[in-house]
Amino acid sequence: MAEARGYVAVDAEECKGCGLCVESCPPKCLELAPELSHQGVHPARYVGERCTGCGICFYCCPEPGAITVYKTPHPAKTGLAGDAEKLKVSGPAEQPAFSSAGEEAAHAATV
Ligand code: SF4
Ligand code: SF4
Repeated sequence: MAEARGYVAVDAEECKGCGLCVESCPPKCLELAPELSHQGVHPARYVGERCTGCGICFYCCPEPGAITVYKTPHPAKTGLAGDAEKLKVSGPAEQPAFSSAGEEAAHAATV
């Protein structure tokens, strides 16, 4: 199996469970969680492998802030999506490639 080149963090409380990211992901590495979020929807989550960091899911998502894409392998490797604690401890050096707080980075990454 090809090594993951990126990973995705989904904010389950921003996600509306529409599934657009799941459908759009080329290597099919997103899924809707079986559990309900506080919003009462099944939020998207990263399956933990195969992400290329392409950013397609970010551009498909209608909810600002729901998806953040990193162009590095997941810091924990076992990586469950949306694991906020793990992501927080991954360190400030790790900049998201695609995030609603980093539109500049997103555009720079696509040129
Ligand atoms: S960045 Fe690309 S490969 Fe990774 S989850 Fe999003 S659509 Fe899939
Ligand atoms: S596209 Fe956005 S709102 Fe829809 S399921 Fe994916 S993360 Fe959630």
